[in-house]
Amino acid sequence: MAEVVVKVENLKKYFPLRRSVVEFLRGSPPRSVKAVDDISFEIHRGEVFALAGESGCGKTTTGRLIVKLLEPTSGKIYFNGTDVTTLSREEEKEYRKKAQIIFQDPYGSLNPRFRVYNVLEEPLILQGIGETKSEREELIIRALESVRMVPPEEFLGRFPHQLSGGQRQRVAIARALILNPEFIVADEPVSMLDLSIRAEILNLMEDVKKRFGLTYLYITHDLSTARYFSDRIAIMYLGKIVELADSDTLVENPLHPYTKALIAAVPEPEPSMKDVIKEIPIKGEVPSAANVPPGCRFHPRCPYRFEPCDKEEPPFIEVEPGHWVACHLYSKR
Ligand code: SF4
Repeated sequence: MAEVVVKVENLKKYFPLRRSVVEFLRGSPPRSVKAVDDISFEIHRGEVFALAGESGCGKTTTGRLIVKLLEPTSGKIYFNGTDVTTLSREEEKEYRKKAQIIFQDPYGSLNPRFRVYNVLEEPLILQGIGETKSEREELIIRALESVRMVPPEEFLGRFPHQLSGGQRQRVAIARALILNPEFIVADEPVSMLDLSIRAEILNLMEDVKKRFGLTYLYITHDLSTARYFSDRIAIMYLGKIVELADSDTLVENPLHPYTKALIAAVPEPEPSMKDVIKEIPIKGEVPSAANVPPGCRFHPRCPYRFEPCDKEEPPFIEVEPGHWVACHLYSKR
């Protein structure tokens, strides 16, 4: 039985909306954006678990909840069996060493006034790691070497704008690694990079995962990198997980109409995706999470909707071992 590192249970994050004057005068009830709406999953030690879907589906919010950059509305997050939604300030500081995040935009996430040395020294100072400057410098040099920025001395004095996009993301990865974490949320880590260096950064992440025994939550809108990089993929739509399976099964035998549409939208499908791309892609945008459609929240865009779809929410069921889907096409047959 695989060891569980992260367990998410009935997690919800609602952002309250301010009522307009008209709504206030009418006495309309307060509304909220249901960014994450009751999701549960487990991430096993050493695996890459991908959360995929269009922007606005709640995947980034989920990642930020897990590393405690956001507080949940309700639900539980367990890390190595400990509920991290109720940590004391001291315990939270310890947790931040073990669970790190790499952001999508390496330029935005690195302080432009900090040299590479300071970018990497800051988390050490905040966590009280390395008593002397030379101890910290040794850790910084090791972190740069681990992301193949060599010789490290050449990069220590550079500002983020003096680095290429790929080098900036390597520094962001080094900053996540320097605290010796067990788990990393990688939020679209390659989507802002040139195509030519995406594989290079993903290969680097795979390499450090093996070397340091890491576990990843990989957040992406791109199913082709999710398949390449992940062991399992969960598809999110409007705050819910609608399908979950191991990566090959999900791409070669998708069940949910939304997953099929996402695969149809992959620009250069692999040969094994050919059968699936015959599906007609869905139309329109993801509806606002402030106005979640009733029943199956995908029904306004679904070409297969039938009688119960706009009334009943489909249950999330296991249709074959390890392959879960929330769709009446499977629950009603
Ligand atoms: Fe489409 Fe109905 Fe399945 Fe929703 S439950 S994805 S509307 S068929």
